[in-house]
Parts: sequence; C-alpha cells; structure tokens
Amino acid sequence: QHLSGNEIRTRFLNFYAQRGHQILPSASLVPEDPTVLLTIAGMLPFKPIFLGQRTPEFKRATTSQKCIRTNDIENVGRTKRHQTFFEMLGNFSFGDYFKEQAIAWGWEISTEVFGLPKEQLVVSVFEEDDEAYAIWRDQIGVKEARIKRMGADDNFWVSGPTGPCGPCSEIYYDFHPELGDDNIDLEDDTRFIEFYNLVFMQYNRDASGNLTPLQNKNIDTGMGLERITQILQKVPNNYETDLIFPIIATAAKIAEIDYHSSDENTKVSLKVIGDHVRSVVHMIADEIRASNVGRGYVLRRLIRRVVRHGRLIGITGEFITQVAESAIALSESAYPNVRRREAAIKAELAREEANFLKTLDRGEKLLEEIIQQVKKQGHSIISGDSAFTLYDTYGFPLELTQEIAEEHHLTVDEAGFNAEMQKQVERAKAAHETIDLTVQGSLDKLAEHIHATEFIGYTQAAATAKVE
Ligand code: ATP
Ligand code: MG
Ligand code: MG
Ligand code: MG
Repeated sequence: QHLSGNEIRTRFLNFYAQRGHQILPSASLVPEDPTVLLTIAGMLPFKPIFLGQRTPEFKRATTSQKCIRTNDIENVGRTKRHQTFFEMLGNFSFGDYFKEQAIAWGWEISTEVFGLPKEQLVVSVFEEDDEAYAIWRDQIGVKEARIKRMGADDNFWVSGPTGPCGPCSEIYYDFHPELGDDNIDLEDDTRFIEFYNLVFMQYNRDASGNLTPLQNKNIDTGMGLERITQILQKVPNNYETDLIFPIIATAAKIAEIDYHSSDENTKVSLKVIGDHVRSVVHMIADEIRASNVGRGYVLRRLIRRVVRHGRLIGITGEFITQVAESAIALSESAYPNVRRREAAIKAELAREEANFLKTLDRGEKLLEEIIQQVKKQGHSIISGDSAFTLYDTYGFPLELTQEIAEEHHLTVDEAGFNAEMQKQVERAKAAHETIDLTVQGSLDKLAEHIHATEFIGYTQAAATAKVE
C-alpha cells in the first residue's frame, strides 16, 4: 500500500529529527522578510540566520513549510508538478554540517526511507561545482552518465534579487529508465521530475550582483511534498495525490461531472480549483484579507479564478465554501489553525464569491450592450479594448467573452486584447520597480521590523507567527 501524503511528511521530519534536527512548525505564509510578498521557500524564515543577523537556537532544523509561488500560476493544472500552494520539506544546517553530509542524507532518505530505486534517480550539480560532482560519483556511487552539470538558472539558488544564495544540487526521478543513459534531458518533464533541491548556502548577493562569502557555510534544502507523493503514490501528477484530489472530487461532484472522464480543459479547471482553494484557505488562516493591494490582491485574484473556473465547468451558484471545507478537512491534522480559523475563512470566501458573482452579472449585462452596439453598427468584431475592460474590471476571461460572442456570431479582437494585457503587465512592472530591493533598502526595513517586534528568539517567533 502506498504511503499517504501525511505519512510522507512525518517520515521526512522524523528522519532528520533522528539525525539531530529540531522539528520546527511551519512559519506563516506572511513572511517577516520584507523583500517578498509571500513565503516562497522553506529557507525564508531562516534568512536572518543565514545572513548572520540572528543567532539560531539550534544548529540543525527540519520543517514542512507552507509556500505560495504566484510565479507558477500559469503552470497550475498545465504541468504535472506545479501548484501555487505547496509544502516544502526541508533540512537546514546553520554553520554545522555541509555538502558531503547533506548529499549523503539526501540520498539515504530518497532511496532508503522512500525506497526510490537508485537506477531511477538522476542528479544535477552546478557546472562549476566539481566538489559536489565528486561526492556524487565517488562517495555515493552515481554513474557519471546520471550526474548532470547545469547552469546558474537551474543550479545556483537565489531567494530573490539579493540575499543568501549558493550552488545547489538536485535529485530528479526518472519515470522511464528503460530509455537509457544517453540523451538524458532533465527538461523533459514527460520523463523526469525534480523533487529535492540541496542548496549549499554560502554567499550573500548584493544589489549589483556581487557575491560575498557568508560567515558560515549552511545547508538549505527543499523537497516538494506533493512531488514526492506523486512519485510514491504512482499517480500522473501532483493533483491526483491524496493531498489535493479530494478537493477536486468535491468540485467535480458539485459540477455533476467526473474528473477522469473529463476533457483536458475541464481537468485544468478542476486542478486550478483544487490548487487555488488550498492557497486561499491557508492565506486567510494566516490572517490575509482580500483587498486591492499586495497580498490581499493576490488572495482576491485567486478567489476569482476559483469562481471563474467553477463557471467554466458548469457550476452556476455559490460553491466555494464547500470546496474550502474539503481543503480544511484535508489539512487540519498538519495545520490545526485552518480549523480554528474555519469561520473566518468561510465568511471571507463567501463574501468575496458573492461580490464577484454580482460583478460577473454586471459584466454580462455590459457585454450584452456591447454586442447590440457592434451589431447595430453592422460590425462583427468586439474590440480588444472592450474585451480587456470586461476582463480587468469584471473578471471576464477572454474565453468567456469569446464564447458569448460566438453565440451571437461575433468574434473578439484577440490581438487587441493581448496588446492591452501587455500594457497592463508593463504598468505593473513599473509599479513594482519602485519598491526598494537593494540590500540596504531591505536591511533597513528588516532592522526596523526587528526593532518593532522585539526579537524573542526563533521558536517563539515561529510559534507567535502560527497563532491567529
Ligand atoms: P521547477 O524547476 O520544477 O519549477 P524549482 O527549481 O523552481 O522547481 P526550487 O526552488 O528548487 O523549485 O524548490 C525546491 C523544491 O520545491 C522543488 O524541487 C520542488 O520539489 C518543490 N517546488 C517548487 N516549486 C513548486 C511548485 N510550484 N509546486 C509544487 N512544488 C514545487
Ligand atoms: Mg520553478
Ligand atoms: Mg528547477
Ligand atoms: Mg530547483
């Protein structure tokens, strides 16, 4: 019988606990670090330790960290391995063990605790890291053909434009070892999946890109819980693991459809719902509220995408609190705060959903008017500008506008729509660049923050971060 996602999390934490690591609770999705909007990796709560700004209470720690990566939003439901919300299992060394030990334990947990066949693993190292290459080859015994040197994009890990960073080494699982060792292309996601990243955190990068060695050599790792679960449960993607699928099943039931016999677009919509609902439940549990700025805006967009995709698969009424309930039920054993925050979560979601449904109704009326006007003028195309207004102000995805237009034998100026979209992306970029991301800027903010909260030690800080 396959291990459950919950058991996999526990085994990871216990393995490292038995090797002297303190198990710490997941920190909040709202980071203390002022340079990022949401917690994007397990290392983030430890950043001040890596930078030498905070003394750790433990030399070794292990966590399962809630993460949200909005940069993966377009991948959601389309790749087999990306969500916005995921859990990152990690083991950390603060100036204690380094490369050799991290690699040895990384291999041991993968092959012995999780039982992955050695001949079904491939490892990557940073192209200049001869030391890591030699450890994999000589101490672990990995064949040279299955050790790949990769460039900085993949194998030099940075948490942001500035901050602690270092070369990394990653472990990939091979779904098709029968294809042999020639022509191994780790970009080929029908054959390989990256699941464990070991970062040798030893530099600080400043705003002009210069690297200076950190006081200590540290280890920071990340294993995607949903990815290792996909592999061990032998399902085709992260969404069909027991960590996410029950949410999808709930949404499918409300839509009165069956996931497995659905077409590709419907499956994507169900996966988007399955993922985003986890994100929004944990965001609200961590005290984020929907708004038009910052994290609140991310939350609102995610909720709206859930509602939209619900409509795309034929759900007309309100449904978000029902799917949220299944997300809460799934995660409450590992994250009790979601059940404690159940009422707040459901109230916030229900209000946002109702408001958005009203907006959608108003959008439908506006679209009706636009269609009448286009027809009256004897035209057959809805302008890109109108389609963009419907998208931006009323949350109408282009496909929805197109679908309704089609019913009236009209088309939509897609190129015009895309041009408007591009302009908005550029406006957003311009706004983003005004945030001070220089080392000094972020250090000042960090210092202010630490002063304001009176530093009370890591464990207590983590514990307070968890309390609502
Ligand atoms: P990928 O190349 O697949 O996008 P990554 O290199 O961006 O992954 P890392 O920054 O190395 O990911 O994060 C460490 C681990 O966290 C990954 O090896 C993976 O197991 C997991 N992970 C990263 N991003 C996601 C995501 N969007 N959804 C699920 N798991 C993820
Ligand atoms: Mg990525
Ligand atoms: Mg990668
Ligand atoms: Mg990686």
